[in-house]
Amino acid sequence: MNLGVVTINLPRIAIEAQGQTDVFWEILEDRVQLTKKALLTRIKRCKEARPENAPILYENGGFGQRLKTTDSVDELFKNSRATVSLGYIGLYEVGTAFFGPQWENNPQAHDFTVQIVKYLHDACLQWEKEYGYHFSVYSTPAESLTDTFCEADLQRFGRIPDITAKEYYTNSFHYDVRKNPTPFEKLTFEEDYPQYAAGGFIHYCEYPNLKQNPAALEAVWNWAYDHVGYLGTNASIDHCYECGFDGDFKPTAKGFECPQCQNRNPETCDVVKRTCGYLGNPMIRPMIHGRHQEIAARVKNLRAGDLNAD
Ligand SMILES: [Zn+2]
Repeated sequence: MNLGVVTINLPRIAIEAQGQTDVFWEILEDRVQLTKKALLTRIKRCKEARPENAPILYENGGFGQRLKTTDSVDELFKNSRATVSLGYIGLYEVGTAFFGPQWENNPQAHDFTVQIVKYLHDACLQWEKEYGYHFSVYSTPAESLTDTFCEADLQRFGRIPDITAKEYYTNSFHYDVRKNPTPFEKLTFEEDYPQYAAGGFIHYCEYPNLKQNPAALEAVWNWAYDHVGYLGTNASIDHCYECGFDGDFKPTAKGFECPQCQNRNPETCDVVKRTCGYLGNPMIRPMIHGRHQEIAARVKNLRAGDLNAD
């Protein structure tokens, strides 16, 4: 039962701060206050609903309690029953603005970005006490915001290498998709963030076809079980019904195509990509530009011969 989400464009704040972290924190506080205002507006708007607007949810127990037609829907929202989410995007770009594009192994940069998510988390805890709704930090997968925010900043600030020039912003706390850390390195880098983002998050690793080496996947999963709360496995499962190709379709300017016969007919292509948190078929439902760029930039976290079971 979520009343809405408002997402903060963290890379923009980092660009505006021009390398000064104290300025970054000042602007962040300002945006956090603005977001709070927006979320409170969402809550107010949702409370205008009447039980009869959605009888299954409000009157017949869908939300766990039956209201009378004259009751306020707020009965089902208050006392932290409903969530309302503060989203964020682009920690990679923030780290890049202050520490350069290779900051993932820099403990100071890592700590700085973890502190940002914690800051949002602490704000949410405070608001929950104050207003009685479950404010939560959401590691926005940003299906289209990855494009919308980046495009807006590209217009405003121009092409900044590794930030706006890529034409997409990186999801939440994810490792730069253009690099190829091993799954263990990637998850070790990412695992410190979700404790402050109970409103939702996902980790995932990119794999080639591992039919020959399923033990490699199992090794990652066994390790991940004790480290992360939600792990996606992205494998090459695209298939061409024209020539029989199995593997990864090639991202091109016009969408995905079979690397063997250049087929791009949606009727005879089966292409499955992890759009953000969810799996999607970009041939049937084309992606927004920035998401396509981001997927095209993804590098595998494992090569077929990389990992033995031990
Ligand atoms: Zn083909």
